[in-house]
Amino acid sequence: MNERTRSWIESAGDPDGDFPIENLPLGVFERDDAEAPRIGVPIGEQVLDLREAWENGFLGGLSGSLGRTLEASSLNDLASLGRSASGELRGVLTTLLSDESSPLRTSDQRDRILLPASAIDSCLPFSIGDYTDFYASENHATNVGRMFRPDGDPLLPNWKHLPVGYHGRASSVVESGRPIRRPSGQTVGPDGPPPKHGPCRLLDYELEVGFFLGRSSELGTPIPIEQALDHVFGLVLVNDWSARDIQKWEYQPLGPFNAKNFGTTISPWVVTLDALEPFMVAGPPRKADDPATLPYLTSDQDVAIDLELEVLIQSADMRTRGMAPHRISIGNYRDMYWTIAQMVAHHTSTGCDLRSGDMMASGTVSGPDEENRGCLLERTWRGENPISLPDGTERRFLLDGDEVVIRGWCRNDGLRIGFGECRGIITPALG
Ligand code: MN
Repeated sequence: MNERTRSWIESAGDPDGDFPIENLPLGVFERDDAEAPRIGVPIGEQVLDLREAWENGFLGGLSGSLGRTLEASSLNDLASLGRSASGELRGVLTTLLSDESSPLRTSDQRDRILLPASAIDSCLPFSIGDYTDFYASENHATNVGRMFRPDGDPLLPNWKHLPVGYHGRASSVVESGRPIRRPSGQTVGPDGPPPKHGPCRLLDYELEVGFFLGRSSELGTPIPIEQALDHVFGLVLVNDWSARDIQKWEYQPLGPFNAKNFGTTISPWVVTLDALEPFMVAGPPRKADDPATLPYLTSDQDVAIDLELEVLIQSADMRTRGMAPHRISIGNYRDMYWTIAQMVAHHTSTGCDLRSGDMMASGTVSGPDEENRGCLLERTWRGENPISLPDGTERRFLLDGDEVVIRGWCRNDGLRIGFGECRGIITPALG
């Protein structure tokens, strides 16, 4: 193993930290003393303001067209330049933050350019044009199929032939920390129709991994699977909040609608594929009796990502009593049946175009064991096996005041790349 690059920012050397110099994810944040949100990079416990660094000449090695994208309030323009541009930026930032003689280190402008992470508020990293949510975990699809259609094969006949997805709602994707209001909707009770309209009673989270598109594609031109990752900028953690009672009544025949359109929370920093390279592993093996995958979804070079995940809940009472969020599940993104490249290839196989800032998410990440189930619907088996919280209460589904926290990290050989947190508190339905 090569010797690790070291940053002169001491907190970046914390072995349990999310943001060592090998990470350098990108996001957008607000600072008190500036009007427009800024593009930034977390490093240790600090955040580098890229606009401030560029305008003050600290990123002089960058080409001008790339540098000017750092003056924007979203990552769309930067990401649209493709992975070679984000790679160029990564190289310049690595030198700036590791070189002992870096001009930033001793600059009297350092405190304007490097801010304490505690002093900033994160915003959405992209202006999101379209959002697509997939259903790529075999364990999740099997568990949900068993509950929603107990009489048939839990997997529908198409499931192992294509990555099933639906077009989601981009306008209600929100940054971590934004409260989520309990939705109201149309539901039927155990005795069937007629339906009622009222607050959702079976509110759930979904642990997912999302990714943002960088370089756009042309309408009418599919992206071949071998080129799919050239169009991917980076990954975030996603909580696809879900109203299960609304979903159960509405989802046939066209899939989820109101059950999924009231809020989707993402973590603030987009971890680039360059940073994730050391954690790319062979794609998931198929079982002997799985059908052959069609050629347009098959590539020798396809990869999964070894990304560990956890979900925690903190009730309002736990928060008041100073009790830490309680972990209720763990998982790994590498367990998914369908990969990122397969999702991109399938999405565009009709000629559908992708634009910089489009977001896709994996679907609930569930593994084989009970502790790997990535939503309460599965974790409590539709409420039959409630989870105990340390405040003495039980959860079948989410209650008002509950906060859901998702964390994720990649780790090997002493290198740890973290994603930060994806969190949101449930507030009561409109009365
Ligand atoms: Mn979902």
